[in-house]
Amino acid sequence: TPGHTPAPTTDEGLPGFTRVYSGKVRDLYEPVDPADATMLVVASDRVSAFDHALEPGIPGKGELLTTLSLWWFDQLRVPNHLVPDHRVDGSSRIPASVSGRAMLVKKLDMFPIECVVRGYLTGSGWKEYQATQTVCGLPLPAGLENGDRLPEPIYTPAYKAPMGEHDENIDFEQTVELVGPIVAAELRDLSLEIFAQASHVAEGRGVILADTKFEFGADRETGVTTLADEVLTSDSSRYWDAEAWSTGTTPTERMASFDKQIVRDWLAANWEDDGVTPPPTLPSEIVERTALRYRELLERLTGDAA
Ligand code: ATP
Ligand code: MG
Repeated sequence: TPGHTPAPTTDEGLPGFTRVYSGKVRDLYEPVDPADATMLVVASDRVSAFDHALEPGIPGKGELLTTLSLWWFDQLRVPNHLVPDHRVDGSSRIPASVSGRAMLVKKLDMFPIECVVRGYLTGSGWKEYQATQTVCGLPLPAGLENGDRLPEPIYTPAYKAPMGEHDENIDFEQTVELVGPIVAAELRDLSLEIFAQASHVAEGRGVILADTKFEFGADRETGVTTLADEVLTSDSSRYWDAEAWSTGTTPTERMASFDKQIVRDWLAANWEDDGVTPPPTLPSEIVERTALRYRELLERLTGDAA
């Protein structure tokens, strides 16, 4: 482990909150006061790939991802889970030790669906396409290459499996069985709509949004379907450099990513998941390159230069 890489952030107790859940990357806290229907979502510097948490963390990642999420919530014209005063100076209820990488949100009744939208062909989609010319069962035209733009963005939902289990791709009909026809259609339409809005914004800044994943929940008071979780971060999305994509000739050149693909690629080349052997420690060079790319994405998207 490199000596000069700061240790990833960890959270012990937060005053006024109880930790209720720890995912691979984020921790959820609820206020001690049971009448308070908010939640604190704290992003750590932990990084995961192929469903494994890796060591060490990426310094600054939690803060970068939170900043990016908050920025996107602001750009998008859809109801979201942020509480109105989540960043009003002085009234912030976010504990100092996690400020910058925490979001105070409304506690929603989450739908157990990962709303995936893909605008480009790559990753598991590319694998399936090569075998059957489909992605999540949806037929596609012949002759597409890894990294190609799809004729139009497609909605490929997954069932959000309980903790520890793998999410499972499902078709639209199965989402109807899970949440009913009205909500299922709403999730699909909102996901495609947000993807269109976000791709447009990103493209204006020389960035391709290749694919992403949203989560929604029902507002407990109004029932309104509300955008939740993190949005359009480099953990939940694939982002590529538009210039490199249009001039590159190899898949590696075309998909110059601003996301954790660097980590995925390194891990794929250096580790075989046999179900027993834990993933190796990330080399400092990979950690630094990933941190740099995450920061670059934030600057590209949110910077004034655009
Ligand atoms: P993984 O480690 O595979 O990502 P995970 O998705 O369960 O697992 P996290 O993403 O770290 O773990 O944790 C975030 C959790 O918070 C998710 O389960 C998500 O559904 C939930 N969540 C996000 N926003 C809200 C909200 N407003 N109300 C209730 N739950 C929420
Ligand atoms: Mg998650």
